[in-house]
Amino acid sequence: MRWSETLIATLRDAPQDAEIASHKLMMRAGLLSKLGGGLYTFLPLGLKALRKVERIVREEMDRAGAQEVLMPALQPREIWEQSGRYSVLKDAMFKIHDRQERDLVLGPTHEEVITDLAARQISSYRQLPRTLYQIQAKFRDEIRPRFGLMRAKEFIMKDAYSFDTSWEAADKSYQAMYDAYVRIFKRCDLNVKVVEADTGAMGGNFSHEFMVLADSGEDGLVECESCAYAANLERADRRLPPQTEERTDQLPSPVATPNQKTIAEVAAFLKRPASQLVKTLIYVADGKPIAVLVPGDRDLNEHKLARALGGVTVQMADDRTIEQATGAPVGFAGPVGLKIPVYADAELKVPRVYVTGGNAADTHLLNVVLGRDAAVTAYHDVVTCREGDLCPKCGERMREKRGIEVGHVFKLGTKYSKAFDAGYLDAAGNRQIMVMGCYGIGVTRTLQAVVEQSHDANGIIWPASISPFQVSLVVPNVQHRESMVAAEALLKELEARGIEVLFDDRDERPGVKFKDADLIGLPVRAVVSERSLADGKVEIKLRTAADKMMVPVQDACQTLVDIVQKGTQS
Ligand code: ATP
Ligand code: MG
Repeated sequence: MRWSETLIATLRDAPQDAEIASHKLMMRAGLLSKLGGGLYTFLPLGLKALRKVERIVREEMDRAGAQEVLMPALQPREIWEQSGRYSVLKDAMFKIHDRQERDLVLGPTHEEVITDLAARQISSYRQLPRTLYQIQAKFRDEIRPRFGLMRAKEFIMKDAYSFDTSWEAADKSYQAMYDAYVRIFKRCDLNVKVVEADTGAMGGNFSHEFMVLADSGEDGLVECESCAYAANLERADRRLPPQTEERTDQLPSPVATPNQKTIAEVAAFLKRPASQLVKTLIYVADGKPIAVLVPGDRDLNEHKLARALGGVTVQMADDRTIEQATGAPVGFAGPVGLKIPVYADAELKVPRVYVTGGNAADTHLLNVVLGRDAAVTAYHDVVTCREGDLCPKCGERMREKRGIEVGHVFKLGTKYSKAFDAGYLDAAGNRQIMVMGCYGIGVTRTLQAVVEQSHDANGIIWPASISPFQVSLVVPNVQHRESMVAAEALLKELEARGIEVLFDDRDERPGVKFKDADLIGLPVRAVVSERSLADGKVEIKLRTAADKMMVPVQDACQTLVDIVQKGTQS
């Protein structure tokens, strides 16, 4: 492909709104063009790379025995009501209606559609197991679209769904997808960490996320320094360090803390470390107010709280509810004398002497011993893990990292198959319900994650497997006739061998062309110039190497073919 005939416009500077390296580079290299917040056009170069990621995904899905389908992006509201998820996800969905005023949504995901499909198409155990997938646009009204393709309003997802006759069989389907994901990300040259994940609004039994480790990642995770345990912070548990008991004969006594509301303010005011304070948070769990206590230096984790309480929905109480429950203005809640259920983090179970809120304006209590002075309904691990916490599996130290979630696999169980009555007749002729799994890959996010993980100060460094073109061919001076003749011949020869070449035939300064070649980041560059031809040679350089090779003109094609083949195999 000749550069002069394509639509590739590289930029010297990244647009203002590009905050992270991959977003900047994808814009600068002319892969994407922005239409609006979270909406991007794939330019020819970007689309070529995207299609390669899609091809890898498709090949590995097919190899794992999944079959491709294509479902409508436009979905009737009723199916979301049927699964019970309309109320949960309605703010995140784009809601529209047709000319008959029928409500529709633009699909943020397809559990509802596929289960409806399975209910219609599958009726016998002979048709099971089945795994179906599609590669298609998804729409989500993200609160904060940003980072280019990382968090877009419209993005491409590969979503797969498995249907099985039993829970054990569903585990097998899950494993097949898990293994396919490992292969997909490996082929994209991505270094991924698989972590245990929360099942959240999806419902379901267990799940794993595939994370690309990066400081710019929006997800937090912990990984054990010693064993294989790794989990999303939404999900991660911790083992408690050994604690010493602390007792006192003194009873709780009020202390004036005028206007000191936050833990940091109270700790500074009383000159005590935050760990000697207990934070009391008022929540509403399935409509009823509860209090949750966590150590003053830790953060409550709502996902863990919801799970600990048996999968209820939890949300922070509003000011009025807090004032009603505590009899005090916001900022002074404490467990002593509360009439609502009190849950506490597991770390607070060993008796110690704490400072808590006093349930009265401008008042805290000293000498509070939980259990003695305040009843606790139950203790659960409900705080967010952090660097240095102990691994729940082996007790060793855990590290905290940031990651980009590129893939997610869920064992769903029967939540959706029950809602859509997706059943089948077993061998004995009895009607049973199907057991499901669902599996997503953010295809467009994966593409950008590759750039986030593989670049240098000069630009992108494409892995051979998804590079938009395989070879960059540059003629620094197109006015030099012999260079052009030799380059045209090499281009023809390479294309005849099936190599994808981007031929920079622009009448631009050499400096601009070399900078652009590095920015776009194809794995190998061949330069045909007056100087190289003086020795009858072509200069060949890998994007990742500092050294150049001078190869005789007649060997250049074969050398490049060898490099490309080696790159795609590894
Ligand atoms: P996140 O937590 O990042 O919002 P999610 O858990 O809601 O993602 P899933 O429903 O698991 O996402 O979707 C499957 C995959 O789709 C994700 O693993 C991610 O790679 C991708 N994805 C989700 N939301 C977006 C988005 N707004 N833009 C681009 N890719 C996305
Ligand atoms: Mg997810």
